[in-house]
Amino acid sequence: MANNIEHHKCIIVGSGPAGYTAAIYAARANLKPIVYTGQEPGGQLMITTDVENYPGYPLGIGGPKMMEEFQQQAERFGTEVRYDLIEKVDFSGPVHKLWTANGDEVHADTVVISTGASAKWLGLESEQRLNSKGVSACAVCDGFFYKGLDVAVVGAGDTAAEEALYLSKLCPRVHMLVRRDEMRASKIMQERVLATENITVHWNTETDEVLGADEVEGVRVVNNQTGEKTEIPIKGFFVAIGHKPNTDIFKGWLDMDEIGYLIPVPGTSKTKIEGVFVSGDAQDKTYRQAVTAAGSGCMAALDAERYLTEKGIV
Ligand code: NDP
Repeated sequence: MANNIEHHKCIIVGSGPAGYTAAIYAARANLKPIVYTGQEPGGQLMITTDVENYPGYPLGIGGPKMMEEFQQQAERFGTEVRYDLIEKVDFSGPVHKLWTANGDEVHADTVVISTGASAKWLGLESEQRLNSKGVSACAVCDGFFYKGLDVAVVGAGDTAAEEALYLSKLCPRVHMLVRRDEMRASKIMQERVLATENITVHWNTETDEVLGADEVEGVRVVNNQTGEKTEIPIKGFFVAIGHKPNTDIFKGWLDMDEIGYLIPVPGTSKTKIEGVFVSGDAQDKTYRQAVTAAGSGCMAALDAERYLTEKGIV
């Protein structure tokens, strides 16, 4: 191995709740982990307002503040955080090779993948401007703030159906904006949506603009059959058009489903490559919560530590 290439026992790729929890465990096990933050240090929680469902914060906590505390806790035990992006990996040998966006090569005995997933957005300027000011991609995270207020959900898959049903328990009226004349969601979810009195499904309907200066006041929609535009007054605009796991760089190395979610060995964080472990939303399309991501980060670090012990590396 070339002398100038760093070698570490544990490299963690990603800095959301999964990555930092893996770092806390790995650091306390004296693995001296390196966390590469990725493009969005802190991950999806950096665009969340208040987190009220993470145990231990009875008064809630801002998403960015929570991630700052995760990071501090990881650093307290010796984690090194690097504000850089891993762009390429080579898992062909016993030593795993990774390359950063700067072109640096680093080697590791174990790699914990916690690259997360990103919500897909419609791509409207108004949607971006009002993000966290009424625009959200997570009803379970933010729905509570719209209790007693009317909201809209964009999308027609299982996520959109779930979000609409969740919001229907909090909000007087939920407008579901469906771009075709049918839904993609499973039949049972569709039936539930259609049977819920306070969900109005708008078929063949696309979002023209989210309305409001400093916070969401409504949405202008367009019927793609007639061209007719309508304004619907709402306070919350939930985009549920799918998530994309950030796993492109692992294609060809690790098992993933057709969307790109990594598939671990059931009941573990292990992958088919020895010494490579997965955690967080990159491998979870079902729960996608900060607390479940943190739990899986813990699993990955424990699996990594056990692997290193078995190999006699620590
Ligand atoms: P999906 O890809 O299944 O659905 C995305 C939805 O968003 C589709 O209805 C699509 O419309 C719509 N959409 C996409 N782009 C736009 C756009 N620009 N404007 C308006 N609408 C748009 O994503 P999900 O997140 O819903 O689900 C992902 C996977 O996870 C699925 O396999 C799903 O079954 C699964 N899942 C399972 C759950 C469960 O079992 N409890 C819960 C949540 C998800 P169109 O149909 O016209 O393409």
